Amino acid sequence: MKKISIIVPCYNEEEALPFFYPVAHEVLEKLPDDYELIFVNDGSKDKTLEILRDLAAKDPHVFYISFSRNFGKEAAMYAGFVNASGDYVAVMDADLQDPPALLPEMIKILDSGEYDSVATRREDRKGEPPVRSWFARKFYQIINKISDADVVDGARDFRLMKRDMVDAIVEMSEYNRFSKGIFGWVGFKTYWLPYENVERVAGESKWNFWKLLKYAIDGIINFSLVPLNLSSWMGFFMTGVSFIMLIVIVLRKLIKGDPVAGWASLICVVIFIGGLVMLSLGVMGQYLAKIYMESKRRPHYISSESNIKDVKKID
Ligand code: UDP
Ligand code: MG
Repeated sequence: MKKISIIVPCYNEEEALPFFYPVAHEVLEKLPDDYELIFVNDGSKDKTLEILRDLAAKDPHVFYISFSRNFGKEAAMYAGFVNASGDYVAVMDADLQDPPALLPEMIKILDSGEYDSVATRREDRKGEPPVRSWFARKFYQIINKISDADVVDGARDFRLMKRDMVDAIVEMSEYNRFSKGIFGWVGFKTYWLPYENVERVAGESKWNFWKLLKYAIDGIINFSLVPLNLSSWMGFFMTGVSFIMLIVIVLRKLIKGDPVAGWASLICVVIFIGGLVMLSLGVMGQYLAKIYMESKRRPHYISSESNIKDVKKID
C-alpha cells in the first residue's frame, strides 16, 4: 500500500483550520491508501499551534512541525518536503483554496504511470483586483522569457508529486527559495489540472501588492541572470554612445568654435546617466545580497516543537 503525504503550511490559520481539517479528513479516509497530514506552523501568533496539538492528539495521521518564528511559506513547504515519508507528496493551503476534493483524481493520474506530478492551475483570476492580474500576467511573461524556470500562469503551489521529484526538490537546498520556479526547474513530466478559482474559506490572505511584487522580483533574480547581463549591456551601449558624442563635439569645436549653451540639457543627461548607474548597481546589489545570504548557509527553518519522532529540526 502506498502512502500519501499532505503538507499544509499554516500561518495564523486558526479560523481556516476548523474548516480545512474535516474536509481533508473526509477525502483522505475514503482513499485506499495510507496517508499522513503534516501541518507546518509557520510561527503563527494566534491559536494555530493549539489547534494542531489537539488534532494530533485525536488523529494518528496528523503530524505537525512548529517553527520558532515566521520563516515564510517557502520554508514551511521545505520543512514538509524534508520530513514527508510518503510515496506521493502534496502541498495544500490551509484555507481550502486548494480543494482536497481534487486529490483522488490527481492520485489516479499519477497511478496511471505516465506522469511524475500533477499540478493545478487556476482557470481565471476572478475576484482579484485588475491591476494585480495585469502585473501577474506580465510577471509570468517576463520570467518565462528570461529563465529556465518554466512557470505556468495561474499555477498554484498545490501539486501532487512522486518520490523522485520530491527528492530532487529536497536536494535543491538553496536558501532563497522560489518554489514555482523550483518545481519547473527540476523537470519531470507534469500534468496540468485546471480548476475554477475558489475564495479563501475564512481568515485573511497574507499577501498584499508589495509583498507580491517583492516575491516576483525575487523569483526573477533567483532564476535568471538576464537583469545582471542587461546592466552590462546598458553600460556598454552608453559608453559607445558617449564616445561617438565626444568625437562629434570635438569635431564641432574644431570646425565651428565653441558656443556655450545648453546646460539644462546637460544636467538632464548627467542625471539620466547617474540614474542608470544607480539602477545597475542596485541590480548587482540584489544578486550580491542573494550570494551573501546563500553563503551564510543558515538553516531554512528552526523547529521548536513537533510530534514527529525524529523530525529534521534544522535544515
Ligand atoms: N503561509 C505560511 N507562511 C506565511 C504566509 C502564508 O505558511 O508566511 C501559508 C498560509 O497559512 C496558507 C498558504 O501559505 O496556508 C497560502 O497563504 P494565503 O492563503 O495567505 O495566500 P493566497 O492564497 O492569498 O495566495
Ligand atoms: Mg489562500
